[in-house]
Amino acid sequence: MTNNRIEKIVIVGGGTAGWMTAAACGKLLKTSCEVELVESEALPPIGVGEATIPQINLFNKVLQLDEDDFVRKTQATFKLGIEFVNWTKLNHRYLHPFGSFGRDMEGVEFHHFWLKMCKNGSEKNIEDYSLAAVAAKKGRFTRPINIPNSPLAEIHYAFHFDAGLYAKYLRDFSEARGVIRTEGRVKQVIQHPDSGFIESLTLDDGRCVKGDLFIDCTGFQGLLIEQTLKTGYVDWREWLPCDTAIAVPCTSNGDPTPYTRSTAHTAGWQWRIPLQHRIGNGHVFSSRFMSSDEATSILLNNLDGEPLAEPREIKFNGGKRKRYWNKNVVAIGLSSGFVEPLESTAIHLIQSTIARLFSLFPTREFRQEEIDRFNRLSDLEMDRVRDFIILHYIATERDDSPFWQYIQEMEIPEYLQNKIRMYQNSGRIYREDEELFNETSWLAVLHGQGIRPTDYHPVVDTLSLEEVRRRVDNIEAVIKRSSEEMPSHAEFIATHCKAQPMGKM
Ligand SMILES: Cc1cc2nc3c(=O)[nH]c(=O)nc-3n(C[C@H](O)[C@H](O)[C@H](O)COP(=O)(O)OP(=O)(O)OC[C@H]3O[C@@H](n4cnc5c(N)ncnc54)[C@H](O)[C@@H]3O)c2cc1C
Repeated sequence: MTNNRIEKIVIVGGGTAGWMTAAACGKLLKTSCEVELVESEALPPIGVGEATIPQINLFNKVLQLDEDDFVRKTQATFKLGIEFVNWTKLNHRYLHPFGSFGRDMEGVEFHHFWLKMCKNGSEKNIEDYSLAAVAAKKGRFTRPINIPNSPLAEIHYAFHFDAGLYAKYLRDFSEARGVIRTEGRVKQVIQHPDSGFIESLTLDDGRCVKGDLFIDCTGFQGLLIEQTLKTGYVDWREWLPCDTAIAVPCTSNGDPTPYTRSTAHTAGWQWRIPLQHRIGNGHVFSSRFMSSDEATSILLNNLDGEPLAEPREIKFNGGKRKRYWNKNVVAIGLSSGFVEPLESTAIHLIQSTIARLFSLFPTREFRQEEIDRFNRLSDLEMDRVRDFIILHYIATERDDSPFWQYIQEMEIPEYLQNKIRMYQNSGRIYREDEELFNETSWLAVLHGQGIRPTDYHPVVDTLSLEEVRRRVDNIEAVIKRSSEEMPSHAEFIATHCKAQPMGKM
């Protein structure tokens, strides 16, 4: 029974996806299986991808990373959410914070109580009931503190880090755990003549790399999954028309904010990701509606500091591979598909694909029912992320450019239509099929983008308005007090995980 075990895994690509996969294999498979990563210095990784979501803490936990060391070595900062500017309408901003809003009461989610208050004239912002949102706006941060019944015990956070340093950090981690790194460009892929399974790779200097399981981490080109196996791609540009990004780092002129900022422009949006040594910026836009020159000029006019490099253009197609696992190839990272980075989901999708691969780890029989399950779950996850991203675009008053006018006319996926309708009718939000974004995230964006329900949960009316007000006000006061007990984000970093200064990029 045991001679069907995978003896050799070959990972092609040494970007974030390749090294995250290598790190997980090195840690979890130990010496049971040989792991070789092939990458070519002549083909640099994409080099963007610097904002994460809180689930990355699970990955760090599995690897048993020392978090302060990880933050220091990747010039990282902490992230409590994303601020969206000019999305709902011009000069409007809202936060999508991590963690929850308020506290559920009587078995009902907090926001229904807040909705009752709103229906009775209150103009309080839902963000006042989120510790992450309040702290982010004040520039404060702390890791969770173990105080019973305090929101300080439930802080959810993620990181902003330097993509190049992160890959290097994981490379050191992986090599220390036995992963073999091979420098070389894959020139030819050898398949079994009957089954089409991949048998080996030929590198540009003629070396041959054999394996049982091949992980395609070659980025958008999908060297194994697409160029070799012709798996096919589902294109989502009808819903997500942005297809180009211009990226440029710049100097920072103040303390790092503990949140990412996304600012909508006339044909897309701009990211701002604060690190310890610089700020990462990029303008994501639709080339149907804006030229690269114009997009670059908008980006350069909206930087906090001096550019540290030449602006770099990156082309992409929003969509997903028809199958993520085909024969003995599993696509992880950009080779499996891409949804624009508005909610910083790509690194998480790498992590969840790795987790799914481990849960359905194959034998050399490569049982089709396991592969089908893997593909079904990956598909669902990606579709739900897509819908959440589309929500940011379609729930808006903006119609001030051809891009936003196109969005106004656009048909949207049925799942998303139903989700919006249910919230509008009853204030209810359900998380389905283990989708990535929870009720808090949907609420933050539905409300932030200006959608208002006409009703709230009937059980709220079992309490008098005075009682609801007393409880809701109390939660607000506790959150405010808790935020005042937190140090500034800059102080927290200085105390725990200050990185060495770096030279000019
Ligand atoms: C504009 C933009 C912004 C983004 N922002 C975020 C963000 O904020 N948060 C987030 O989570 N994600 C973000 N992402 C996604 C994130 O960058 C990627 O998911 C992540 O970097 C993984 O990339 P990758 O490793 O799959 O591919 P790449 O980084 O492209 O790496 C590909 C690797 O394959 C190797 N390779 C290719 N061909 C060969 C060959 N023939 N032989 C040998 N080696 C080969 C290359 O050498 C390279 O090492 C962003 C993406 C884009 C496009």
